[in-house]
Amino acid sequence: MEMEKKFCLQCSKELHGRIDKKFCDDYCRNTYNNHQNATHNNLIRNINYVLRKNRNILESKIPSGEDMGKISRNRLIQEGFSFTYFTHIYQNKKGNLYHFCYDFGYLELENDWILVVKVKGNQG
Ligand SMILES: [Zn+2]
Repeated sequence: MEMEKKFCLQCSKELHGRIDKKFCDDYCRNTYNNHQNATHNNLIRNINYVLRKNRNILESKIPSGEDMGKISRNRLIQEGFSFTYFTHIYQNKKGNLYHFCYDFGYLELENDWILVVKVKGNQG
């Protein structure tokens, strides 16, 4: 019976033996898995970095002692804010959609203005 050839996912050597084999040996398996984990960890670290940076930018837009601030969309982008990443969305009773990065969020207003808010104690 002609068997489909299989190759080690780590070193690409041809595999013999069990059909469900993916690696030559434990060494190749461990090397491969460690690399996969490192890749995932890097991705998570990069996203966490963007979220923290977003949060800090938003925080800096609220004058001390105030609950909210206003900033132009362009200014946020200039400072390195990423609109791609946020931690959660909050919709208020009026239907306004706030995007949050941890405890700071923003609402897009007309004419490319952004309202920046911070989580109040009783806000879900
Ligand atoms: Zn191998």
